[in-house]
Amino acid sequence: MTAPRFVAVAVPIPIRRLFSYRVPDSMEPGPVPGCRVRIPLGKRDVIGTVVLSPGDPPPDGARVRDIKEILDPEPAVGPDILKLTRFVSDYYLCSWGEAIEAALPPNPGNRRKVRYVARRAGTGPEQVPQRAVAKRRILESLPESGHPVPVAELPENDRNHLRALEKAGLVEITTVQADPAEPPGTVVVPPTDLVPTPAQVKVLEEIGPAIAGDDWSPFLLFGATGSGKTEVYLRAAEQTLAAGKGVIYLVPEIGLTPLLMQRLKGRFGSQVEVLHSRLSKSERFRAWARVKDGGCRFVVGTRSAVFAPVRDPGLLVVDEEHDPSYKQQETPRYNGRDLAVLRAREAGAVLILGSATPSMESFRHAGAGRYRLLRLGGRVGGRPMAAVQVVDMREEYRMKGEIQPMAEPLIEAISARLSRGEQTLILRNRRGYAVSVFCPACGNRIQCDHCSITLTWHRRDDRLRCHACDLQRRTPERCPHCEEPGLQFLGEGSEKIEDDLKHRFPQAAIARMDRDAVRRKGAHEALLNRFDAGGIDIMVGTQMIAKGHDFPGVTLVGILSADQSLGLPDFRAGERVFQLLTQVSGRAGRGEKPGEVVLQAFDPDHPVLLEAIRQDYEAFYNREVEYRRSLRYPPFTAMVQLLVSDRNPGKAAIWADQLAEAVRMEGQGRLIVNGPGLAPVERLRGKYRQQILVRSAGRRKMVDAVGRALERVDPGVPRRAVTVDVDPYSLL
Ligand code: ADP
Ligand code: ZN
Repeated sequence: MTAPRFVAVAVPIPIRRLFSYRVPDSMEPGPVPGCRVRIPLGKRDVIGTVVLSPGDPPPDGARVRDIKEILDPEPAVGPDILKLTRFVSDYYLCSWGEAIEAALPPNPGNRRKVRYVARRAGTGPEQVPQRAVAKRRILESLPESGHPVPVAELPENDRNHLRALEKAGLVEITTVQADPAEPPGTVVVPPTDLVPTPAQVKVLEEIGPAIAGDDWSPFLLFGATGSGKTEVYLRAAEQTLAAGKGVIYLVPEIGLTPLLMQRLKGRFGSQVEVLHSRLSKSERFRAWARVKDGGCRFVVGTRSAVFAPVRDPGLLVVDEEHDPSYKQQETPRYNGRDLAVLRAREAGAVLILGSATPSMESFRHAGAGRYRLLRLGGRVGGRPMAAVQVVDMREEYRMKGEIQPMAEPLIEAISARLSRGEQTLILRNRRGYAVSVFCPACGNRIQCDHCSITLTWHRRDDRLRCHACDLQRRTPERCPHCEEPGLQFLGEGSEKIEDDLKHRFPQAAIARMDRDAVRRKGAHEALLNRFDAGGIDIMVGTQMIAKGHDFPGVTLVGILSADQSLGLPDFRAGERVFQLLTQVSGRAGRGEKPGEVVLQAFDPDHPVLLEAIRQDYEAFYNREVEYRRSLRYPPFTAMVQLLVSDRNPGKAAIWADQLAEAVRMEGQGRLIVNGPGLAPVERLRGKYRQQILVRSAGRRKMVDAVGRALERVDPGVPRRAVTVDVDPYSLL
């Protein structure tokens, strides 16, 4: 008999330790690191990943159970990704198993159909008896036919009632194929032979030797919107592939990729594979498997593509590296950009971070010589940046005695575009119709039942929605608080702006792009394609319209409430607004004709607006960096946000006190610890939230101290009550 073999297994649960299992003698050869295994844990079976072997036998007396099944004949997680995920676990204080789970595609299973459900037109909760509480609630919450929701999104208990409701003719259930082919209207453009501009040549001359070499070489590519950065990435990718190495190219959001994909497919054909979260499970799995097998060495995707099993990566590109969507807002709360930096360093690869508005972190690294700064300058072909016209809304109010969401200068500018057959983008960074519902009789603003957030009225389906937890409610006739009629709908969201435009310009083709408008799979791509083809004259939208699109037909960008977010209690508020304004302004005048931006604001003299209007990133950076330095905010410190939440506000407060105390002790006076105090959103999904902010110039020591503090308060402060966010991107 051979000696017993043990392996260490990482399990995707929020406990930061590994578990020992015995490999039964019948399993020959045993699993190697990177293989997934089915193991018993407590009363359940779970899937974990072998990370170390052979493990030391556990201490005497410990009861070690057997592995039940080896799921992968070959490791699903290669050595480089094992190392990367281990880093994620140390850096973001999650378990190694959770990090591995984020790195692997979801198990495809064999569900190939998706079921949707909606209320039949004209039906409602009144049609079931009062005591059928669950059925009434379901009917209450379901949208009417025409806007079906996936059955899988309903709570499990509710799903059990659907059959009966369907039989009663109250709801309709439709089944669609989960796996449609290419989104409709995708055209493949032939490869283009652009002659690089002198600025591109200069930049490529710096990158070229780095690609040919084997050393880690980080670059920050800084160039205005439309300066030809994408073209630089594509050429660098070509060179890397030609040198026999792999490429990972990250983009912030999938809205960006349909057009980019056309450009890529035209040039790289089947050499390139796209990975993102909106693919179906089986699509994702197929793409991932092809990359893993070495059938494809070029991956384009959103943040999780940083874990793509590309062999021997020689180039990592992070486009729009400042973009908040690189930060995952659930465990593990990693930043895809920062992991790209790490992966490139580990692989001895070239890294290109690109942006017109680099993050404060990256620009500071470049200033300190840690990244090589490449300046691409202005737009390709000397095309001018858009001229900006500022509309002082206070002035408008004084003149007119009231406020229209769109002032006269903007309306005139739109009319001019329509008569010339040019396109307009309007940014209104709030979705819904009315931002809040107010009762003038008692002063109440209708809030979510579960969150300290006012509900937004969506007119299309006449519902009130919480933008934090997605609660939906029928619009009441009377104030739920004082029962008086006369509710007022205040503040114009994107839906209202779309409506106003349709009234003003009945002959124009007008569309809206925000999270509501693109819920359906393929809707986003279809909208972009339609806009690109000239089928839309005016597109209204939230920050979604600001992202990297290249629409040559756009000559006007209107920005409503440009200064709205400047007052938010988040040290990054100014940076965010500057980025958004610069990015959206950059959508105007990318084609032959020059562009114009009309910006409406109540505080047009705010420095951030002035800098954005001049498109002067470095002026913004130089001012902002002093503010960050003097108040010791990132990038001068690293930050951890700890949120302690519970349904019982008293418990949340007590636990937060204990945790803050433990952090202070472990930090031995070397950390800045603010709080606990109420989080900016005090209540979310029914839980009260306390916030602790920890900062320090020394990241490693701080993160370790926070890790020890969490252990110290365990189990008095339940781990499930605490959210740990290292390098938080939004404090709201
Ligand atoms: P960015 O990524 O910096 O916003 P792009 O690479 O998308 O810029 O380029 C902006 C526009 O200029 C695109 O329409 C692109 O096709 C065009 N362009 C880029 N490089 C060249 C070039 N060398 N010659 C002609 N046009 C170019
Ligand atoms: Zn809510």
